[in-house]
Amino acid sequence: MTRPTLAVVSAMHEELRALLPLLEDCRTQRLAGRDFHLGHIHGQPIVLVLSGIGKVAAAATAVLLMQAFDVQRLVFTGVAGGLHRDVAVGDVVVARQLLQHDMDASPLFPRFEVPLTGRSRFDADPQLSDALAAAVRRLPDVRLHEGLIVSGDRFVGSAAQSDALRAVLPDALAVEMEGAAVAQVCADFGRPCAVVRTISDRADDSAHVDFGRFIEEVASATTRAVIENWLRAE
Ligand code: SAH
Repeated sequence: MTRPTLAVVSAMHEELRALLPLLEDCRTQRLAGRDFHLGHIHGQPIVLVLSGIGKVAAAATAVLLMQAFDVQRLVFTGVAGGLHRDVAVGDVVVARQLLQHDMDASPLFPRFEVPLTGRSRFDADPQLSDALAAAVRRLPDVRLHEGLIVSGDRFVGSAAQSDALRAVLPDALAVEMEGAAVAQVCADFGRPCAVVRTISDRADDSAHVDFGRFIEEVASATTRAVIENWLRAE
């Protein structure tokens, strides 16, 4: 029996580049401007793809993975800005819930609620998230946080912006630009998804500087180690 296909979606080139060497019997299929890399890692059928940045790019990628490649489980990897005061650069956050911080159809619907779904928070799959959290715990010297990740079509790069987010979403651990969109699409399809993010910056006035430096030096290596640890244990 063939095993159900997994997808690991990266927001950035650097991360995909770190994962591609793990892929055995790789073949690439181009669709909707994206290169889908199909193959196996530790015997597990898998698709690696770059989503592009932002909620629309991520949602479109998730739909393509499920419709065109019959992906049954999806993991989104990338970097994020730390929001909660305990979440530092270099830490890893595994999402347990995701929310779109720029969704606001008030007063018609409560702020953050996705109209006509009755929900503002979308759950990550508990089992998949447990497995990823376990993979992070096996990394030496990496601190793990689990909880709410918020997403929006904006790089949060000032203390004023991150203060405003903390004020309205005090339990948010990290901010990025794709995860909640993917979680909503996966909920529509009824397929498990998980989001794992390495903290590249503190979403403050120096975020853009920290972000660039971090991507090059740390984030891709962390992503690769987490994915390898996880798939070895699958
Ligand atoms: N100039 C960058 C653009 C990256 S946008 C480039 O050349 O690639 C930031 C990316 O990292 C998004 O994919 C987002 O999910 C994540 N991210 C990291 N820090 C963030 C922050 N402070 N606010 C929002 N997204 C952040």
